Amino acid sequence: MRLAEIVAARPLVGEGVLVMLTRRCPLRCAHCATMSTMSAPHADAGVLRRFFDTFTVDSHPAVAVLTGGEPLLRPALVTELAAAARSAGTRTAVLTGAFFATAARIPAPVRRVAAAVDHFSISLDAYHEREVPRASVFRVLRELIELGVAVSLHVVGAGPDDPYLADATADVRRCFGTQVPMLVTGLRATGRAASWASPAIPAPGAAAAEPCAMAAWPVVTDDGTITACCNQNVVDGVARPEHLRLGHATVDGWPAVRERTRSSPVLRMLRTLGPRGLDARVAADGGWPAADYCGTCERLGRRPEVLAWARANAAGPGGALLDRQAAHGQADAGPTALVRRYGCAPYADLVDLDRDREPSR
Ligand code: SF4
Ligand code: SF4
Repeated sequence: MRLAEIVAARPLVGEGVLVMLTRRCPLRCAHCATMSTMSAPHADAGVLRRFFDTFTVDSHPAVAVLTGGEPLLRPALVTELAAAARSAGTRTAVLTGAFFATAARIPAPVRRVAAAVDHFSISLDAYHEREVPRASVFRVLRELIELGVAVSLHVVGAGPDDPYLADATADVRRCFGTQVPMLVTGLRATGRAASWASPAIPAPGAAAAEPCAMAAWPVVTDDGTITACCNQNVVDGVARPEHLRLGHATVDGWPAVRERTRSSPVLRMLRTLGPRGLDARVAADGGWPAADYCGTCERLGRRPEVLAWARANAAGPGGALLDRQAAHGQADAGPTALVRRYGCAPYADLVDLDRDREPSR
């Protein structure tokens, strides 16, 4: 599965799920938004197994992205969940900081993960390079490519003009040609190593429609709570507004979670108008002028009139239709257009670098 396939599916409602296997990580990246450490908690393996067991041939996400913290601290669990997902028809991707890359060869448990998943992605940025040298990451990529594994890099920089991005992406092109597509994002998208899924923060401006494509895939957090997006505050539990809660992996299965994701009128409005567009349209005071994008969403609970308006106007077939149109409009624009909006625009085309290659699997 190519990186571009995963990114292209991101706006499609219920097409994928993000699963945090752990908050733990052996690296010490200075920019880690989650401040992951080796004493941070793992997600409950039994709860994750139970949730994956609810995937069926008739009802399953097309893609499950396995993240952390560092998911490869639990290679056996990643392998097991990937196998369970595949038996239902779900393809999996894993995103790692490659803490194991300084070994002479990829350790056997990680090789088993590579054989089990459909995509293997590694983080690369100036902070990671202080922990894991670029040459070691490149050696792992070469080994994975030889094994026939679809790979990619998530490259993070301070912004479009960051010389690190120019240097790193040119180096990857020089060493790998078009074999290693890259998702290049700004610094905000780091942290939980889920950068292909991090919410965008559109520039402040008129509160026209600014659809939130990030409210399309449920996220299973490390405590089992299932949220509607991967906003760091929401995942961490700093802000878990009721309108973004989809359930809990101890009791809810995929069919119910997907249905809630699809049918929630508030989520439909977030996916079509975006939080600022919704707030500005309904709030008597014209909306929070200075509020940021996700901050507006997190505070919508204080706007009962806004939530009521969303429920009154998006619960029916018209809301469903608009939601579908917004999702397909963004998906049809393609992965490069999506990264132009959510990632680092000048490097957006690198997401589809391997478009002429046959997927290895
Ligand atoms: S940014 Fe990712 S790899 Fe780095 S410490 Fe945090 S979780 Fe680990
Ligand atoms: S706007 Fe809301 S749903 Fe979208 S990413 Fe931000 S917090 Fe999540």
